[in-house]
Amino acid sequence: MGKVSGYLCFLVRCSISSLSCQDDTMKTDRFKGEVLMTLRGIFLLREKIGDSIFADMKRNWLEEPVQYVKGVGPKRSLVLAKLGIRTVGDFLYHFPRRYEDRSRIIPIKDVRIGEVQVVSGKVLARGVKKTWKGINILRVAIDDGTGIIYAAWFNQPYLEKQFPVGSKVILSGKVDIYKDIQIVNPAYEVLGDEQEVLEAGCIVPIYPLTKDINQRQMRKIYRSAIDRFSPCIAEFLPYSIRKRHKLVNLPLALRKIHFPEAESDWNDARKRLIFDEFFLLQLALARRKHGRLEKQGIRHVSGGRLFEKFKEMLPFPLTGAQLRVVEEIRNDMAKPRPMTRLVQGEVGSGKTIVAIGASLTAVESGYQTALMVPTEILAGQHFLTIQKLLLPLGLRINLLMSSLSQKMREETMKEIENGESHITIGTHALLEEKVRFPRLGLVVVDEQHKFGVKQRETLRKKGLESTDLLMMSATPIPRSLAMTVYGDLDISTIDELPPGRKEIHTYLVSEEERSAVYDFIREEVTLGRQAYIVYPLIEESATLHLKAAAKMAEYLKMNVFPEFRIGLLHGQMKEKEEVMQSFKEREIDILISTTVIEVGVDVPNASVMVVENAERFGLAQLHQMRGRIGRGDYESFCILVGEPGSEEARKRLEVLTQTSDGFQIAEEDLELRGPGEFFGTRQHGMPELKLANIADDMKLLEIAREEAFSILSQDPGLDEPGHRNLKMLLKEKSLI
Ligand code: ADP
Ligand code: MG
Repeated sequence: MGKVSGYLCFLVRCSISSLSCQDDTMKTDRFKGEVLMTLRGIFLLREKIGDSIFADMKRNWLEEPVQYVKGVGPKRSLVLAKLGIRTVGDFLYHFPRRYEDRSRIIPIKDVRIGEVQVVSGKVLARGVKKTWKGINILRVAIDDGTGIIYAAWFNQPYLEKQFPVGSKVILSGKVDIYKDIQIVNPAYEVLGDEQEVLEAGCIVPIYPLTKDINQRQMRKIYRSAIDRFSPCIAEFLPYSIRKRHKLVNLPLALRKIHFPEAESDWNDARKRLIFDEFFLLQLALARRKHGRLEKQGIRHVSGGRLFEKFKEMLPFPLTGAQLRVVEEIRNDMAKPRPMTRLVQGEVGSGKTIVAIGASLTAVESGYQTALMVPTEILAGQHFLTIQKLLLPLGLRINLLMSSLSQKMREETMKEIENGESHITIGTHALLEEKVRFPRLGLVVVDEQHKFGVKQRETLRKKGLESTDLLMMSATPIPRSLAMTVYGDLDISTIDELPPGRKEIHTYLVSEEERSAVYDFIREEVTLGRQAYIVYPLIEESATLHLKAAAKMAEYLKMNVFPEFRIGLLHGQMKEKEEVMQSFKEREIDILISTTVIEVGVDVPNASVMVVENAERFGLAQLHQMRGRIGRGDYESFCILVGEPGSEEARKRLEVLTQTSDGFQIAEEDLELRGPGEFFGTRQHGMPELKLANIADDMKLLEIAREEAFSILSQDPGLDEPGHRNLKMLLKEKSLI
């Protein structure tokens, strides 16, 4: 009876899975007939053997506790929980870390030296030896009847008991010769008897494990889980998409990712599962964007007269890119939907002017603008620049930050509240509850990466309606991030620098060349230029051996540059703007500073920047800092003083000496730090990427994005029958 019901069960599963996989062929009558037959068959079966197995299939198995998998009892489910596996779905989506191609096991007599090889044989002998240097070496001799090879492990004597004499093992690793033929530190597995048949001649998955479970046990559970559950998994991807991009169905993809029979299987499975990850991510982004666009926003109608006047007063013409981006922003602001737009452009590409262009549109249509920046220095500087440019137009510009006197702050807040203030520039102080804008129409966030999503939204909510939001990014954003982390925003790109920019020469030097660096600064300052020297910290750190700005300012003043005027600037000082202003007015020759000068600061006469402990900084940050020089008519020099601890760290810094292309640097930075950083911290409520890599799998990312956005624009509620499973899945994952 058991056999019969097992067979019936199999039949039913086949028909169910063929039902779920065939949404396209439904059109043909013949297929319809088959479906009816199958359904009738199921109905009859149901009469005969009762409801039990059908109850099985109605459930959403992916959500059930992993204990439903054969071979997983209460004890083992605790072990699996340590791997983050709680449900059947978690289990099926816990993918192999790598695979071992055991179909390529070769006789030991034929192994090739210097290559990675897989061999299998019986343990002949084993032993741990100590060398005169005190290193423990475990050696295990393996015999396969054609020859003997040794496996060696250093300082892991505890591995010895894993290899009882006579047991059968598989080894994989690079073969070399040291007295005998050996493999150092091979990947290995001790085989059981039954396994020999099952796993010797095929590709086997190697899973990420935890204590109390081994590869063999894991594989056995996967075998039964895949057979049992993969046919029950509902396909959620519309057939047309699968067909267009040659994607295998989901049950098959899950089977093949765990048990590929050839490399092509693995490729098929990965392609499908990576597509899924991107597709769900893009759907979530598209939903977010749609959700925002459904809101009522402000229609900024302006003839652009203020902007025209402003352009005439500027001492330089705007670049083509600046004009285009201002136009894009103005068009967006004129729509009755809230704008959420990111302006990206190289350091020094002139984003501030673009922000002013947007502000003038808001002012002309009767609204106020708030411009938020991350540091008081930058706020002060923007205030002076913008005030100078806009006063002739009769506009009221205000500055708000916490270091101002209470009286000044209160006056400013009053002007904001009674609507007198047109444009308010400020730091986080703008976010305070007491600051109230009666007619806030535009929020501009400069150096947006320094702010969190919450802060941007807090400021935005100070408007009565859905205020337009313009974010400005410090440096260009790699395409992969533009499509993911920033994938729900509209993006404008300033892809042109103002003419006449001088190249910045960048050098990487070591501690020994320090006196040459000081000589070079002396030469430049004597020629009338100014210099920045940037340190990572304010105070010296005993543990990290880093030099600190405050102490070094003292030292350099006394011992190195007694003939020059030295200034000190750091974030915790009260009189930051005064120092910055003196530097701007050339009352200071050399400014010793922390990274507070990283963003926005604009002193065209400065031509040298020395960054100490450069290895401590990120590439994008260094590039941004270096953007403080090369702003005037002089050739400029950026000198990175560092002791990169490794070859890798040196290569990383060398990128900066080779290119001044912010795009390339950002790509490089992304590759080094990985997208995890961007996803982990910034995007909650976004699906996880397990297999996909936004840089390597860019092609699939683009396709998935196109398909997701197109589905949502045709069927925003995902209400069409063909999208039902998709909608259910998104709900389960709390993505909608
Ligand atoms: P960023 O994009 O890094 O924020 P800024 O807005 O600070 O750049 O501009 C850098 C410098 O370039 C400023 O001194 C600004 O006055 C100048 N600038 C901006 N646009 C132009 C232009 N079209 N022609 C010449 N100089 C410009
Ligand atoms: Mg800027």
